[in-house]
Amino acid sequence: ISSGKPETDKGSTKKNSESTKEHTLEADYLENTAVIDESNLTAEQQLGLKQAEERLERDYISRLEKRSPEYTNCQYLCKLCLVHIENIQGAHKHIKEKRHKKNIMEKQEENELRALPPPSSAQLAALSFTLIEAAKEQGISDEDFRIRQEIVNEMEKIIQQPLPGIHSILHFL
Ligand SMILES: [Zn+2]
Repeated sequence: ISSGKPETDKGSTKKNSESTKEHTLEADYLENTAVIDESNLTAEQQLGLKQAEERLERDYISRLEKRSPEYTNCQYLCKLCLVHIENIQGAHKHIKEKRHKKNIMEKQEENELRALPPPSSAQLAALSFTLIEAAKEQGISDEDFRIRQEIVNEMEKIIQQPLPGIHSILHFL
């Protein structure tokens, strides 16, 4: 097999100081996969693919067990953006997209909020105290409530007074 020089973009050629064998396998896979038929991958390539997919899982992109009939050429799905993606390279491109980054940020915020510990009893007590104090200061008294109720009653009387023509209008509303 003769093949031209593999095309690598400058970003990916940077040396990774914490590079391990895993990284190499994944990188190998990514560099060669475009020209390799997935059905005859070597064991190493399969491992590289698996590692690449595990990494994508962290970005909520997973391989479709069954391809969608609408996107038969798409192997992957971004569960955050609900976007079908053709292959691993496409997935890496997708990860760099603005909307995916935004969705990831929102997902992380949501996860953080869900992971918040429940309030302690001291926190609950402090909150109750604050609320009761606020109600004492700002809330309406029984006297206020009585006055307001009277105003409502008076207004209802006025509104319910028969006005010429209003009866038939209400029927149309
Ligand atoms: Zn996405």
